[in-house]
Amino acid sequence: MSTETISQLMRPFWGDRQVIASYVGGEFIEGHGQAVEVRNAHDDSLMLSFPDADEALVAQADSAAKAAQQQWWGMTGQARGRAMYQIGALIRQHADNLALIESLTANKPIRDAKVEVAKVAEMFEYYAGWADKLHGEVIPVPTSHLNYVTYEPLGTVLQITPWNAPIFTCGWQIAPAIAAGNAVILKPSELTPLSSLVVAVLIERAGVPKGLVNVVAGYGHSIGQQLIAKADIRKVVFVGSPATGRHIAVAAAQRCIPAVLELGGKSANIVFADADLEVALRGAQAAIFSGAGQSCVSGSRLLVQASIFDKFTQALAKAAQQFTVGDPSDPHTQIGPINNAKQYNHVKNMVERALEDGARLVGEGAEPIPAKPGYYINPTVLAGNNALYCAQEEIFGPVVVAIPFEDEADAIRIANDSRFGLAGGVWTRDVGRAHRVAKQVRAGTFWINGYKTIHVSSPFGGYGESGYGRSSGLDALREYSEVKSVWVETAAVPAASFGYGASLE
Ligand code: NAD
Repeated sequence: MSTETISQLMRPFWGDRQVIASYVGGEFIEGHGQAVEVRNAHDDSLMLSFPDADEALVAQADSAAKAAQQQWWGMTGQARGRAMYQIGALIRQHADNLALIESLTANKPIRDAKVEVAKVAEMFEYYAGWADKLHGEVIPVPTSHLNYVTYEPLGTVLQITPWNAPIFTCGWQIAPAIAAGNAVILKPSELTPLSSLVVAVLIERAGVPKGLVNVVAGYGHSIGQQLIAKADIRKVVFVGSPATGRHIAVAAAQRCIPAVLELGGKSANIVFADADLEVALRGAQAAIFSGAGQSCVSGSRLLVQASIFDKFTQALAKAAQQFTVGDPSDPHTQIGPINNAKQYNHVKNMVERALEDGARLVGEGAEPIPAKPGYYINPTVLAGNNALYCAQEEIFGPVVVAIPFEDEADAIRIANDSRFGLAGGVWTRDVGRAHRVAKQVRAGTFWINGYKTIHVSSPFGGYGESGYGRSSGLDALREYSEVKSVWVETAAVPAASFGYGASLE
């Protein structure tokens, strides 16, 4: 992709600007740090190059966010809701452009990028509806008090997002944060800053105060770390890898700032012999191969009942070979490349190690690493056991590890034999079994006879090392709020208690 194509796509949002910059206080501000270079995953050519953000930006983002947050919270809930609804409308208006930007820079098949952009519009529309409904509660306390609870904004929140779903995670976190009255400083992955910058521009065009949403373009280890250490923030919401998440939680804890961690997974997708196997087969493909497996909720451990294991995994491997793998900008492409060289090498190494460790490659003629340029990995089915490294660690590519199980108890035991707990699924015609399994698998999201459906109205988050805190739905609004309990004495003569013996006489 040429720099010219990117300039054209970005023109409606930043005019004739040529260099990627941060968007702070309603202005594009260029950094002067080390060059961030992003390569095109399709052919390994240099795609983007821009200077890392400067530390001076931290103070600028702080003061812009603070002023904007006061103005925003001073507006009525109805006015905030109208502006947020308008953000959704503007995203829909620019959806084609946004999807192209996302597809080109995140190396996502254009059909997937279109779906994600539409979901982002929906996120702002959903939370627009909440903006004037953030009422508190009255608690029936057993004293003579009126006790009421209010929800207040935190102030400014820091959000750090990954490369695998840049616009999705940006909308997913910004929408509830501003609906609850906060200002945002968002640091997208250095590999994929453009779609978040566009969203910030559209938010402002919708009538939201300048500086309410600021996007800082740069590296995590430099400006990301500076923001956690120095910005005047009240919470850090991190979406990314478990290793970085740990580091971020420690840095936040040192400042006594709470964190939400949305991390990785190794989710179990469980297929019983009594399932509708045709439907389960399609579901197993979607669970792991969509997005080239670069999805936190991927059904990357496929648990199949032993009696149908060979038949089911062979059928899956055959289906895997029929996908159209290639250039993400081609509308027929179903599976694009791995986003970046580092991740590509990780997936390649994981496959190689899995085979060395004794996992078996399923499917006649299966070839995990195609002989073509770019960061491509073919959809791959490995058969193994749950103790293998490839069954315990996140691969984050189109590679599934299939594991046989004997019965319901065995399936639940294997599913829970993981330090992660992000998602999972079960395929069975036995309704009782479906609910028993859903109840016993430790995961924040679980599907019965389906996989991967999520919606902004329903809470999302992990158990165990998949993280803590919740995104989406009402739970996300609570994450982005402070809770205040107010006690009002209503008794004519308050009951005697500590201190009531004093007198002004
Ligand atoms: P990553 O951890 O490498 O990077 C995520 C973000 O953290 C980037 O913006 C990066 O610049 C920043 N960062 C890196 N080091 C930092 C530091 N020291 N201080 C501050 N910021 C820093 O993750 P990734 O490789 O971009 O994303 C893939 C991972 O994200 C996978 O593990 C995937 O499962 C996870 N993920 C989780 C969810 C979820 O909701 N649970 C959603 C999407 C992706």
